[in-house]
Amino acid sequence: MKKITVLGAGESGTGAAVLAKKQGFDVFVSDLSEIKPEYKALLEKYAIAYEENRHTDDLIVNAGEIIKSPGIPDKAPIIRKLKARGTPVISEIEFAGRYTKAKTIAITGSNGKTTTTTLTYHILKTAGLNVAPVGNIGKSFALQVAENDYDYYVIELSSFQLDGMYDFKADIAVLLNITPDHLDRYDYKMQNYVDSKLRILQNQTAADAFIYRNDDPLIAPEIEKRKPAATLYPFALAKTGNVKAYLENHKIKINTPNGLFTMEEELVAISGQHNLYNTLASGIAAKLLNIKNDDIRESLTGFKGVEHRLEKVARVRGVEYINDSKATNVNSCWYALQSMKAPTVLILGGADKGNDYTEIEPLVSEKCRALIFLGADNSKLHAFFDGKAEIIRDARSMPEAINQAYEIARAGDTVLLSPCCASFDLFQNYEDRGQQFKNCVRHL
Ligand code: ADP
Repeated sequence: MKKITVLGAGESGTGAAVLAKKQGFDVFVSDLSEIKPEYKALLEKYAIAYEENRHTDDLIVNAGEIIKSPGIPDKAPIIRKLKARGTPVISEIEFAGRYTKAKTIAITGSNGKTTTTTLTYHILKTAGLNVAPVGNIGKSFALQVAENDYDYYVIELSSFQLDGMYDFKADIAVLLNITPDHLDRYDYKMQNYVDSKLRILQNQTAADAFIYRNDDPLIAPEIEKRKPAATLYPFALAKTGNVKAYLENHKIKINTPNGLFTMEEELVAISGQHNLYNTLASGIAAKLLNIKNDDIRESLTGFKGVEHRLEKVARVRGVEYINDSKATNVNSCWYALQSMKAPTVLILGGADKGNDYTEIEPLVSEKCRALIFLGADNSKLHAFFDGKAEIIRDARSMPEAINQAYEIARAGDTVLLSPCCASFDLFQNYEDRGQQFKNCVRHL
């Protein structure tokens, strides 16, 4: 029996283990940390052998193939050892892709993946298709393939998942944008990260579709260089060159072989320029799957967005509080600031991933009344912003940040949490950070 070892027992690892077991492999799961009770229960339900709080070399190195969870970096000692032995190391998505004939819509980009995946899923589901959202979002692709029989999967893909993909092919691939992120995992070389994102194109033929943002300065030259075999569906804010989806006279226009889709921009429920891009991408995918224009329209007017992404929380004494905790890099904060219409008290900071704040500097001086740095170590933020904003404060906890914001903000202002950073210095994760923000605001 072929032996497969799964490294990491989170959502993707346990899903992969269940699928491997069902496919008749001899499966072993190893996690360097403690495994969460719900995942242990799943492994036990399927009688899958596992270890936690360690990697035992002898139990791992003789596997024929390794399925690596996206959180484990390539430079982890165990991965180095396995690669040196020539053992194939793949991602859970690559593995699951082998065992389904469903149509796949794979979505990547530095920002907007979850929003676009959720929106695309929402359109397909509203139109009555047998579809599930998987990948970085919700349940793992592998677990769904193991336990269900969907006709369509909308798959959210991070660069870490793409790194472990070789033979997988997306029927419809979407690349939303590329801006610096996770450079610590790419030897601080932007091109390595770009190459990772472009793996979404792998194995596509002219029968497949590649949807991408044409006015992204990093994507367009890559397309020139790579000349993808897939049929191309570029989108952009304005109609230039061969773009298939764009904005014209305040109307969204999407042109595919299945006809033209048009809709007044103001009828789209999610706001902001970034969401217009996300809408264009989802709209092209929906048209390519032959969804009726009325169904697309109904979905776009009904979709309210995803929690922790520019989420309006409350208005307190004339001040609007917005939770954008998921803005874990500088570019997503740029889009948040760009969509602000009132003077803004910006709460930012956290675990820095090699950030360059130059990108948001003009918007900070144009729109921000004050900056509140919320991090265990705010020195890098001070080094960059001191002298560039009128009011700068430090906070070490969410209640402290909210109290400061409450003091500073005037009626008509907006308080925006859009941190540019990961959350792990002071919070469990970005959801915890966003939830604490909401709780504090609701107790004002
Ligand atoms: P991801 O899954 O790629 O992290 P999300 O949809 O969760 O993306 O959004 C993450 C953050 O990026 C949020 O702050 C959101 O407001 C912002 N955002 C969403 N779509 C885009 C986009 N197309 N371009 C830039 N920023 C975006």
